[in-house]
Amino acid sequence: MADKFYEDMTVDELRAEYEEIQRRIETSDPDEDQKGWKQELKILKKAAERRGIYFGESPWAEIERYLQAAEQDMKSLDAQKKTFVCENCGKSISVESRIYEKTYRGEKYCLDCRHMHGGRREGAGRPSLGVTRKVSITLPEEYWKVIEDDRGDMKLSAYLRELIIGKMDEIL
Ligand SMILES: [Zn+2]
Repeated sequence: MADKFYEDMTVDELRAEYEEIQRRIETSDPDEDQKGWKQELKILKKAAERRGIYFGESPWAEIERYLQAAEQDMKSLDAQKKTFVCENCGKSISVESRIYEKTYRGEKYCLDCRHMHGGRREGAGRPSLGVTRKVSITLPEEYWKVIEDDRGDMKLSAYLRELIIGKMDEIL
């Protein structure tokens, strides 16, 4: 079909074809082949869209599509978050489902409480509370804002500890 024909064109060829069809629509007889050209234009636009090329739209349309896609991504990321509630201290922790599966599924206690209760769970591979090091961390302000929002009433050190251990579990 004509479709296939457009799929094989370069972007420049498509654009030239698009302009040519536009010109024909403007100059053709409304009672005769204008309808056919309009149809043709639709086919071209569809074929182009499948390749991520958009003709005859405002420059904002592309930005809008981008924003919509980003919003969709954010939504699905949020949907992937899972919440764990510690049976000991009552703290609730919201983490990516990947981290949830690895660190919290089937557990009763948060990491801090697990350490306080001693005994590591079989196979958890969890390090003991360990060695304390004082560090200062520089982050862009918006990161700190997100951290502050996210940690709730967790201590900052406990929050960062969860974050680091979760990340290390993925690597180690
Ligand atoms: Zn706890």
